[in-house]
Amino acid sequence: MDSLFSQLPDSHTVLYGVFGNPIKHSKSPVMMNRAFRETGTNAVYAAFEVKQDQLREAIQGVRALNYRGINVTIPHKVEVMRLLDHVDEDARRIGAVNTIVNEDGRLIGYNTDGLGYVRSLKEETGSLQGKRILVLGAGGAARGVGFALAKEQPAALWIANRTVEKAVSLAKDISPYCETTGIGYDRVADLHSVDLIVNTTSVGMHPHVDATPLDTTFITPNMIVSDLVYNPLTTKLLAAAKSIGATAHSGLGMFIYQGAIAFEHWTGKPAPIAAMREAVEQALKE
Ligand code: NAP
Repeated sequence: MDSLFSQLPDSHTVLYGVFGNPIKHSKSPVMMNRAFRETGTNAVYAAFEVKQDQLREAIQGVRALNYRGINVTIPHKVEVMRLLDHVDEDARRIGAVNTIVNEDGRLIGYNTDGLGYVRSLKEETGSLQGKRILVLGAGGAARGVGFALAKEQPAALWIANRTVEKAVSLAKDISPYCETTGIGYDRVADLHSVDLIVNTTSVGMHPHVDATPLDTTFITPNMIVSDLVYNPLTTKLLAAAKSIGATAHSGLGMFIYQGAIAFEHWTGKPAPIAAMREAVEQALKE
């Protein structure tokens, strides 16, 4: 059997990890350790179950033990910001950090979710300039994705959410970068010439796989339909898009690229995307 590490950890091994709760389901260790092995990097990455009241101590541990990098996931992405020495401007605007880089004892926070999403989407479907985009949802993921989409110079951006006030509030935050409107789902049917639909809600995620976040009769063959959910890989929304002849983009790409950008911040090396994807796809089958 293939060994987990290109070499066994030794006294030079650089340490990485992910803090979250729950965390046992995380595919980040499989993906990141594969990336280290693929690039011949002497490093290991582990998952740490960190409870809400333990975050401060966990961050002190990063400093004391000289971890080079940490990913942060639910429920710590917002709270961790005030424990760091510096938060990058994009992460501050989004209001959440998912990646920490330890620069000689100085902890710097980044958010690679939105950038990772856009990099994956562009790689699979092309430029977003001039596109008319409908984002479904206004939660944490929508904030990262919304700001990153707005920087790609789309022609228009709408944010539709069940709780309309959250859509309006997020649209207001994004408006300086691109014309953005927050709406309720009741107004979606009135939108014309939408090029791209992005589902950032959890609707359709396992175990509720039969749900879709909007009426799929809205989808037309010229559209790109993108879903942040990657469990299942093909959601009911994406299956509907494919059957109509639209282009479907799955959430797996976002997961891989958010990790790839974190890897690049930490190591300064280009991320081995294909190997990372292979590792995650394999782990999802198990
Ligand atoms: P969140 O902050 O809790 O936001 C959830 C969003 O879903 C809100 O807009 C919420 O609307 C909406 N929603 C939930 N249930 C709904 C329902 N029954 N009908 C209509 N809207 C509903 O969660 P999040 O962190 O943004 O994550 C959202 C999804 O993105 C999750 O499925 C997560 O797995 C996925 N995600 C994927 C990646 C990736 O790498 N691919 C990364 C991050 C997140 P209200 O505001 O009205 O409650």
